[in-house]
Amino acid sequence: NLFRHAAFEISVASPDGLPFSPAPEVAFAGRSNAGKSSAINTLAGHTRLAYVSKTPGRTQLINLFRLKNGAALVDLPGYGYAEVPAAVRRQWQGLLEHYLTRRENLVGLVLIMDARRPFTDLDRKMVAWFGTTGKPIHCLLTKADKLTNQEQIKVLRDAKAEAASLVGNITLQLFSSLKKKGIEEVEKIVGGWLNP
Ligand code: GDP
Repeated sequence: NLFRHAAFEISVASPDGLPFSPAPEVAFAGRSNAGKSSAINTLAGHTRLAYVSKTPGRTQLINLFRLKNGAALVDLPGYGYAEVPAAVRRQWQGLLEHYLTRRENLVGLVLIMDARRPFTDLDRKMVAWFGTTGKPIHCLLTKADKLTNQEQIKVLRDAKAEAASLVGNITLQLFSSLKKKGIEEVEKIVGGWLNP
């Protein structure tokens, strides 16, 4: 139980405000509403560690949580709000790209995608940036409970085929915060990044 009892440490407005630390860091990213906050809460065993249902368009902060083993979990703001002005979006993308490609203690990216629509254009952009670093990307196909077992099998197979066509060291799994399904698999993969 890698994520259990993760503790909130700090919120910052921009990735360059993150405290410098030699401790390994794992970033969580995803389209807004994909289920990232729910996934973090589920992994941490908290109900409200990361807030669910944020106001769209509001300035969102980057939250850093400290895991028991000393590693950091960096919760990046959800992307894909249509209402955000283009200039703000561009500036934010620049900061995000810089963080993802340059942060030395960042060991891997957990990419949260709604199982019903994986690999949107912005998800592919995240993969394109981070994939070039050679560091691993683990994708959680969330809200899997909204699909039948048959559909889950197909979605996972199709998403794996799609991931194989992208540049990056990408793994994928199904996840459900509602059913608490997939927790051990995330812990195994991310734990492997922290203790290779
Ligand atoms: P975020 O914007 O990516 O942080 O997404 P949230 O965690 O706030 O979730 C967005 C919406 O999806 C909320 O209404 C959640 O209750 C719902 N949701 C999140 N995860 C799941 C899940 O695993 N199953 C189901 N059925 N709903 C979920």
